[in-house]
Formats: sequence, structure tokens, C-alpha cells
Amino acid sequence: MESIFEYMQTYDFENLFFCQDKALDFKAIIAIHDTTLGPATGGCRMWQDYSSEMDAVEDALRLARGMTYKYAAAGVNLGGGKAVIIGDPKRTDREPVFRALGKFINRLGGKYITGEDVGTTLQDMEYIRMETAHVVTLPTYLGGAGDIAPMTGLGTIRAMQACCERVFGSDSLDGKTVAVQGLGAVGHNIVAQLQEHGARLVVADIDPQKVKAVTAESEIDAVAPEAIYDVACDVFCPCALGKVINDDTLGRLKCKIICGCANNQLAQERNGDQLEKLGLVYAPDYIVNAGGTIYDTDRLGVGGVSHERGREKVYRIFDNMQRVFEIADRDGIPTYLAADRMAEERIRQIAEVKKYADDLSPAF
Ligand code: NAD
Repeated sequence: MESIFEYMQTYDFENLFFCQDKALDFKAIIAIHDTTLGPATGGCRMWQDYSSEMDAVEDALRLARGMTYKYAAAGVNLGGGKAVIIGDPKRTDREPVFRALGKFINRLGGKYITGEDVGTTLQDMEYIRMETAHVVTLPTYLGGAGDIAPMTGLGTIRAMQACCERVFGSDSLDGKTVAVQGLGAVGHNIVAQLQEHGARLVVADIDPQKVKAVTAESEIDAVAPEAIYDVACDVFCPCALGKVINDDTLGRLKCKIICGCANNQLAQERNGDQLEKLGLVYAPDYIVNAGGTIYDTDRLGVGGVSHERGREKVYRIFDNMQRVFEIADRDGIPTYLAADRMAEERIRQIAEVKKYADDLSPAF
């Protein structure tokens, strides 16, 4: 990124805020992409390995824009934002740092709502909550939804069912072979849910303990981490890292569907085009993995936390995937582009709805 304003104009950003406190050695950036649908929402990342301040600014902007698309496509009435604290994520004096961020967020009057992200913890969110109400991903004892990984898992299963319906003509996962890469918070939950659906499983993780914990419980095959790409299966389910669909792995995949919770699965956009040419169905990651945040942010709606309503919205990830397929077919484009188009169309349409003023008294 050469020029901040040029970048903001290109992608239509609204605001960028810089926050600092010398005595606390605190530096943070808050990026607000689009608030058409509602307050800009997105987690707070704490990271120090940026090559420059511009690099950190670009990260905040890029992540904020990603959140706009995620919420828009999920049918959630929130916009996209993100905070980046430039600092060591292992820093121990966390209370002043996160309370300072809370103070700055509070100044924005609810236009930005933060949450947990890479390098930050639930405890950090508690510190932020001491200074502002504009924070999600809170524990249940602070009015939050608690652990969201199971809902990210449920959303992934719903997306997978929609993919199966497209490919096999039935949404059943019974008897399907699913290769799961990564058995962390979400991955191991997906494995449990897939078992309930009668799927056959092949798993891999770089942590042998996690593999052992999963395979000890039931008849699940495990392969070495590198071998997961070569497994003949119906569904490849990436639940570990980003960029796993790349020039090296693409030709090795022996699946019909790629549907997992990992963020940023496509290393390059062209890899999404290649999947399409190979006839593989790719479920766009941000459609698949929205379950956790759909559930978590639902408490911002009428009446606070409602397990039933939150879960119902996560269930609709099935419909969201179907809509992605409809747009892909309608416009003759790959699914990763269809997801973006679905989000953009919703923002455009709701902007149109919002032009009708609620207060019709003349402003003299
Ligand atoms: P996690 O850190 O709990 O689990 C990741 C797992 O992947 C770990 O067990 C790790 O050992 C394993 N792993 C790392 N490198 C690997 C490799 N090369 N091969 C196989 N396994 C490897 O993370 P998580 O919360 O389960 O999230 C998983 C993915 O889903 C991440 O990409 C995350 O950004 C995304 N995601 C998570 C949530 C959520 O609710 N937690 C929501 C949206 C997206």
C-alpha cells in the first residue's frame, strides 16, 4: 500500500483511527470499512511482526473489509471493522492496554464493536468491557454467548450439507468420507458432529496429542499432516491454517467438495478459478465459518442472548450456501466470487431500503 487515502478510496472505507498512549507504550489502529448494515464489528488483533506501520494499517483495513463481507453474506445487520494493537501478543501488563483500547472504542459511540482475535483473549475482552459496552465475544457471566467454537462447527456442517446436496443430490452426510485437517477448538467439534451424522473420518494434526485424543475415542483413521491432501474422500475439510489451497496442493486433492472452517483457504484467487475448472465445489470460507460470530453477535439484538434464535441463524448457513450456488450459476462465476457478489448485492439493496427516512418532519 503506497497511499492510505488511495487504498481507502479504492475499497470504499469510511474511517481510520489511530490511538496511542506513550506512558502505556500503547499503539492501536481501528479501521471502519462500511456501516450500511449496522455498526462496524470485528475483533481486535494484537501483533508485532509487521514490517512497517503501513503494513499494520493495511492489515487492519483488509481485515475490516473482510468483516463487512462476512456479515453481509451471513444476513447479519452489522458492518465491517477491525482493531489492531501493534505490540507483543505475549505482553503481560494487559489490563491498562486493553482498558485504554476500551476508552478509545467508547469514544466512537458504538460505531465500532470489538471482540477477540489473534493474539487477544477472553480476559482481554473483560478489560475492554470495564471501559465500554461495545465488545462481543464475552464469557457468559458477562452477558456473552460463551464458547463459540461449537457454533462455528455447526455452521460448517450446515455448509457441508448444502454442498452435498449440490454434488450428490442429497444433504445427507451419512457414509460420506471427510478428511479433516486440524483438530483444534473447531476441528475436534466438527469431528464429533460428523460422527453423529454417520460420516467416515480421516484426520490429521501436527499435534500428536490431539490426534490421539480423537482417534482413541472411536474408529477414526489418522494420517500424517502432509498426507491429508492425498486422501481420497468426498469432502476435504480444512480447519487449521490459511492458504492450504495453493499451487502445490491443488493437484493433489482427491475430493469433490472443499468445505472447512479455516480462514483464507485460497492462497491466490486464481486457485479458486482452478478449483472451478477441476469441477470441485469450493464452499467460500467466510460463508462456512460465520456460525460463531452469527451466534455471538445475536445477543446485540432484541432481548439479549437467545440460544434458540442464535442457533436458528447459524442453521441458515445452509441457505446462504445455496444462494452462493444460485449466484454462481446465474452469473457463470466461481463460488468464491459469487459469495462476494451476494454480500455486495445485499449491501446495495439495504442501502436502498435505508434511504427512506423514518422521520418525515421537515428539518428547518
Ligand atoms: P485452533 O488453534 O484451536 O486449532 C487449530 C489446529 O490446527 C491445532 O490443533 C493445530 O495443531 C492444527 N494445525 C496447525 N497446523 C497444522 C497443519 N499443518 N496440519 C494439520 N493441523 C495443523 O483454532 P480453531 O479455533 O479451531 O480455528 C481453526 C481455524 O478456523 C482457523 O483458521 C481459524 O481462523 C478459523 N476460525 C475459527 C473460528 C472459531 O470459532 N474458533 C471462527 C472462524 C474461523
